[in-house]
Amino acid sequence: MQPTPNRLNVWHSPSPDDLGDDHIEFLHRLQAPTWITVTGKDNSRTRAIVTLLHGNEPSGLSAVHSILKQQIVPATNLIIVVASVNTALYPPILSHRFLPWEEDFNRCFNAPADTSQRQLAAEIFSRLHEAAPEVIVDTHNTSGHSEPFAVAVNDSIPTQQISQLFTNRLVVIDQHLGALIEKADNVSPVVTIEFGGLMDPRADRLAHESLMSFVTRNHLFSTEPEPLHIIKHPLRLEIEESSEIHYSSSVQDDADLTLLNTIDQLNFQPAYAGTKIGWLGRSGLQGLRAINAKGDNLFHSFFHEVSGFLTTKQQLTIFMATTDPYIARKDCLLYFTPTIL
Ligand SMILES: [Zn+2]
Repeated sequence: MQPTPNRLNVWHSPSPDDLGDDHIEFLHRLQAPTWITVTGKDNSRTRAIVTLLHGNEPSGLSAVHSILKQQIVPATNLIIVVASVNTALYPPILSHRFLPWEEDFNRCFNAPADTSQRQLAAEIFSRLHEAAPEVIVDTHNTSGHSEPFAVAVNDSIPTQQISQLFTNRLVVIDQHLGALIEKADNVSPVVTIEFGGLMDPRADRLAHESLMSFVTRNHLFSTEPEPLHIIKHPLRLEIEESSEIHYSSSVQDDADLTLLNTIDQLNFQPAYAGTKIGWLGRSGLQGLRAINAKGDNLFHSFFHEVSGFLTTKQQLTIFMATTDPYIARKDCLLYFTPTIL
């Protein structure tokens, strides 16, 4: 049970011949979390792309491999952080969000730095702090089917200008989870981009096209902000980690909760009052919660039981609904807001 290395490797101006033919070979060349730098046309400014904080979310990885392989000269100096390389290489390749004996790496950017993963997170943060990039983009894929969206901790004009390079949806979170965007917001405008479902070719294409534009565009902050669909302070629907959850089209007798295996089709679609999202099991509504930033549980304002179904009480916009029971238990079942897009 190898831990994640507590230090970054550093690689300046990699030669295309050393990168491998695709992002899988690239991972084998890297072997460990790596800080890559490329000199740009204007070397008075720097931009940063952080990718693979989650080891099974490859759209951004594939895009940065392609940018490096094609020897694209970026408009500014470029930093590429390829984070959970060891996790992605743990067999079978690109199958683990994080290693089973470790934490979710995108929950490690808060104090204390008392594990090798948390020391690595602290090094990534302190290097970004020192480099002071004009913007940081953190690339992800959703575990379920989803349209792309940006996530940030504010909706300032620079945040909107960066987000609109990738998507017309911006989610503003106020939870303190230990994610990179919470910490790095003190350094630079920073957004997480969820390009869409992992292994979805549309997500890969969007990552390639939009990250290429992001690195080659001379000015990112000279354009008028375009109108974005902004979702502020969504709630997370969570369940006790010890619960037994299934995703199915028919109820599983022993489960605490059987969610519909098509729940990810609701992502960014209006879920009207009365929408059934699954069958409650032996423990009913117990163990389900939706905690706001103040620590209040608002679950009962938005969900209730109707004839044994877990049902929405009012119209909601749902997103980031997963169909992976492991992520549902460890992180959350979905995010939601009463805001209608
Ligand atoms: Zn992710």
